Amino acid sequence: MSALFASISRISRVAGRQCKLLHSPPTTFQPIKLSFRPISSASRYLSPNTRAWPYIYRAESSAKMAPQLDSYFKSVDDLSDAFVTRLSDAVAIPSISAEDERRPDVIKMGHYLKAQLEGLGAYMEARELGPQPHKEYLTLPPAIIGRYPAKKDETKRTVLVYGHYDVQPANLSDGWNTEPFELTVDDKGRMYGRGSTDDKGPVLGWVNAIEAHQKAGVDFPVNLLMCFEGMEEYGSEGLDDFIIEECKPGKFFEDTDVVCISDNYWLGTEKPCLTYGLRGCSYYSIEISGPGQDLHSGVYGGTAHEPMTDLVRVMAGLVDEQGNILIDGIKELVAPVTEEEKEVYKNIDFTMDNLYESLGSKTGLFEEKERTLMGRWRFPSLSLHGVEGAFSAPGAKTVIPAKVIGKFSIRTVPNMEPEDVDKLVFKHVNESFAKLKTKNKLNVSLQHAGKWWVASPNHPNFTAAAKAVERVWNVKPDLTREGGSIPVTLTFETATGKNVLLLPMGSSTDAAHSINEKLDKRNYIEGTKLLGAYLHYIAEEPMDNK
Ligand SMILES: [Zn+2]
Repeated sequence: MSALFASISRISRVAGRQCKLLHSPPTTFQPIKLSFRPISSASRYLSPNTRAWPYIYRAESSAKMAPQLDSYFKSVDDLSDAFVTRLSDAVAIPSISAEDERRPDVIKMGHYLKAQLEGLGAYMEARELGPQPHKEYLTLPPAIIGRYPAKKDETKRTVLVYGHYDVQPANLSDGWNTEPFELTVDDKGRMYGRGSTDDKGPVLGWVNAIEAHQKAGVDFPVNLLMCFEGMEEYGSEGLDDFIIEECKPGKFFEDTDVVCISDNYWLGTEKPCLTYGLRGCSYYSIEISGPGQDLHSGVYGGTAHEPMTDLVRVMAGLVDEQGNILIDGIKELVAPVTEEEKEVYKNIDFTMDNLYESLGSKTGLFEEKERTLMGRWRFPSLSLHGVEGAFSAPGAKTVIPAKVIGKFSIRTVPNMEPEDVDKLVFKHVNESFAKLKTKNKLNVSLQHAGKWWVASPNHPNFTAAAKAVERVWNVKPDLTREGGSIPVTLTFETATGKNVLLLPMGSSTDAAHSINEKLDKRNYIEGTKLLGAYLHYIAEEPMDNK
């Protein structure tokens, strides 16, 4: 998951409780207003009477694939030590994309992955992405792309999978209990190491799935297209253009039928989920300046308009203490919540204690789980992040800053078009500033924007994954959204025009991006089974557009 956007959702993930089956899931759930996603081919699956969640479980199809999945699962179990060794070898390569001096290690990791897949007979390419923007002295790590089986089987569907082989920075001195680049397995099967869960475990899950099929002598059910990048934790530099190009007719990813990304996490620790939505993020700065230089309050206090005073007034008018966004028109952009949708939230395995545990306090905005989850996934939020140029050190300096820049962002949801949000934000900030009748100068600007994404959880890509979850974990998955963003998701959807599924392997306690990142061995091994099982189910799932 992207470093840029993910941190808030990461922090807010929580430890889950013992899983419980969905005894009375809603039967009339309509996916959330897919009409606002014209680029998605998923919309064809939204007719009211088809494939309402929960999907119609087809016993005969699962029985049909039972024998082959059983031998595949056994093969995964038999190979589990080798799979842990594979993860250990990968974690040992410190492929930190954000550190210049580690670039050779990132590239080494890409080639390690390529060699592993070539060893299993896949056709692989390392595609160069050129110099790194703004750091031209660095070469971007290659996109490792491939196809398995090496020659396309025209009778089978084609599944494009994405993952990343770079990792966040990590040092023992940050507070790790173990060496971050040595995979350390404790007595509870927790495998600690940077990249274990984000995203080397899931990426190697695909490699493992291929190997386990071979060892079991089970026919690989689909054509697997792979796209693994090495700059995800640094904003996926260079990747968007590459994906868009390779999805064009005649190019590498042209024949994609569905896309699967394994780069996020369960909501808790016991119950798998399928993720069908992500919030977007629009990030703004408000610059207020006046005096030619910083001033002393003993000399100039009481004689000049102060930029910091103006900024605090403007920022205070963006959001209230209950989290309500005070910018006129924002609320009206949000797609209304349907009754059916409310039902879905009731069944999600999450409690208020989960929230309190992850917050480290009981300072939640709402008392109910449903409203809390909607606050995280379904509604926009506005957060004030900081003030550049303000005095922030300890002590009591009497400076009047000459220029201050306030930073805030809005997590956006359907149907908020980023350009519409920008217009409303600029209008609001300009009007609030005008009301102050100050002689200082204002400049409000957008720093970056990433759009929200939502897919239909009734699409065959999701129903196939749900069957695979049920087969491997013996429980129906929760349907979740994420409060953060994985921008490449939208890129794949737009470029392929196909449904994109987020199929997580790790759990909420994995501490991706943090110290002591880990992946439970159970999640890695069962997760490998899940990825393979998903390919079998998607191979057979009725699909109108095939
Ligand atoms: Zn990731």
